[in-house]
Amino acid sequence: MASSIHNNRSASSKTCLCLRLFNMWCWRAFKWVPVLLILGILSWSYYAYVYQLCIATLESTAQQCAYLVMYHILLIMLIWSYYQTIFSQLQDIPDKFKLPASELEKLLSAESDDAQRSLLEAYAADLPVLTRTMSGSVRYCNRCVIIKPDRAHHCSICARCVLKMDHHCPWVNNCVCFHNYKYFMLFLGYALVYCLFVMATCMPFFIKFWKGNFGGATATGRYHVVFAFFVALMFGISLGSLFGYHCYLVSHNRTTLEAFRAPMFRGGADKNGFSMGCFGNFKEVFGARPHLWLVPVFTSFGDGIAFPLPPQDEDAESLLSAERWDRWGQRPRPFDEHLESSSYDEL
Ligand SMILES: [Zn+2]
Ligand SMILES: [Zn+2]
Repeated sequence: MASSIHNNRSASSKTCLCLRLFNMWCWRAFKWVPVLLILGILSWSYYAYVYQLCIATLESTAQQCAYLVMYHILLIMLIWSYYQTIFSQLQDIPDKFKLPASELEKLLSAESDDAQRSLLEAYAADLPVLTRTMSGSVRYCNRCVIIKPDRAHHCSICARCVLKMDHHCPWVNNCVCFHNYKYFMLFLGYALVYCLFVMATCMPFFIKFWKGNFGGATATGRYHVVFAFFVALMFGISLGSLFGYHCYLVSHNRTTLEAFRAPMFRGGADKNGFSMGCFGNFKEVFGARPHLWLVPVFTSFGDGIAFPLPPQDEDAESLLSAERWDRWGQRPRPFDEHLESSSYDEL
């Protein structure tokens, strides 16, 4: 009797585990749907543009070559940036930010909020963290059991804390963060130019279509070209506004999350707390080598854990920041001209 109850229990727990695994795999597969949708639209646009417009409609060989070369350059850069944004690995937060078991026990057994705050403050004293919560305490993630590095946030979809988190983007099935922000910007930029190029080159045929003198293409071919114009217009408008907004964020050194809620320092909230001037902010994301600005390879400054603050002599936070940059090694600062990508491994 006892063994049959035991067998039933183990069978039901196995079924439960299988169901959970099945749900997990379904959810994982479902998250790729927006990416597949983008790839589907790109594949169709390739057929519409390359075959229906360039091969079946255009009559001039020179025009065909010029359009095809330009189109493929844009497409390669677009897909390369997209690939890099999707497959950039989220980096682990260094162990020194993780609360050891002894500290966690102390934190959980602390009698008051103030006692917890003091414990976290003491533990974070040697960490490069300058930002605080709205109540002024050290930022702590109780799901990851870590002190959050400046600008890091917990992503509920990725189920982890993410360095310089901008937002979780379903269209790339990844968090847009410190390690792929440059790729994301390039992806938006190349996608916008791609749409503008398709629009500009399809427009004369779109006008001809309405006038009724489209030319040699079949009826289906004509609809593909006209539809390509409309789809490029629709995506161009949404990409243009999103790219413009992110250019604004880059120029002010803000993430999307920081644009909604300004980072809090000991002296209070400061929406421009990380801004190093427009060009400095641009270089923080795109690096110092102009020939790599438009190439989707990693050239951002720093390691996503510690960030310099603008120099202001009277500002206590700035002094603290400068002290800390010095204390963590006599290493070049991120804005030194000779440094295109620094990695402060020891931080
Ligand atoms: Zn977390
Ligand atoms: Zn995420």
